Amino acid sequence: MAIRISRLEPKKAKQTTAAPLIPLNPTPEKLRAAAKGCQACDLWKSGTQTVFGEGTAGARMMLVGEQPGDSEDRVGHPFVGPAGRLLDEALAEAGIKRDEVYVTNVVKHFKWVPAERGKRRIHKKPSYSEIMACRPWLDAEIEAVKPEVVVCLGVTAAQALLGKEFSVTRQRGELVKSSLAPFVTATVHPSSILRAIDQESRHQQKQAFVEDLKKIGRLLRKLPRAA
Ligand code: SF4
Repeated sequence: MAIRISRLEPKKAKQTTAAPLIPLNPTPEKLRAAAKGCQACDLWKSGTQTVFGEGTAGARMMLVGEQPGDSEDRVGHPFVGPAGRLLDEALAEAGIKRDEVYVTNVVKHFKWVPAERGKRRIHKKPSYSEIMACRPWLDAEIEAVKPEVVVCLGVTAAQALLGKEFSVTRQRGELVKSSLAPFVTATVHPSSILRAIDQESRHQQKQAFVEDLKKIGRLLRKLPRAA
């Protein structure tokens, strides 16, 4: 009887983090270029493209959201959809120019599921493992930009940067000292304001968001500018 000997191919180790892709001496430009081809988690398959952070190195404030949305995924820029427009309005009302801040997300690809009817793509929260896979990009952005204040927008960003126990509801606006930046704080994500049940509630929530941004603006004015 012939004996079949099958050769077992060694299993390729699955890359579970973007860490090996981070360039030496990262700048926002180098990072953006390197992240274009990232396949460190499966979200590259569902998103159209990597949506990397935007802004200048040396921006004093870094705003960190959860992930790009439908509009951002299509055009390849962060915070350009309805939530981005609300963010622009709130920054303007708080006296902060959008080009003074660096905007980015914890996860750089759009995670979505198809709507039950129609062609709409419905946002789906990234998993812990996807957040961890993408985290090296955010850490490298922080290293390259060196913001004085990192502002987490919403619970996903807040818990990714400040720990799973952090509650945006209870700890919103708290200034947390961190190894990431001199101050890290958290507020709501502008998309949550868009989901307010009525106009009055939306107006109140937006004003509270503007107040959070004004408070951070006042803090920055008190801090000596880094040389
Ligand atoms: S979500 Fe992040 S880690 Fe995953 S493929 Fe996209 S850039 Fe890479």
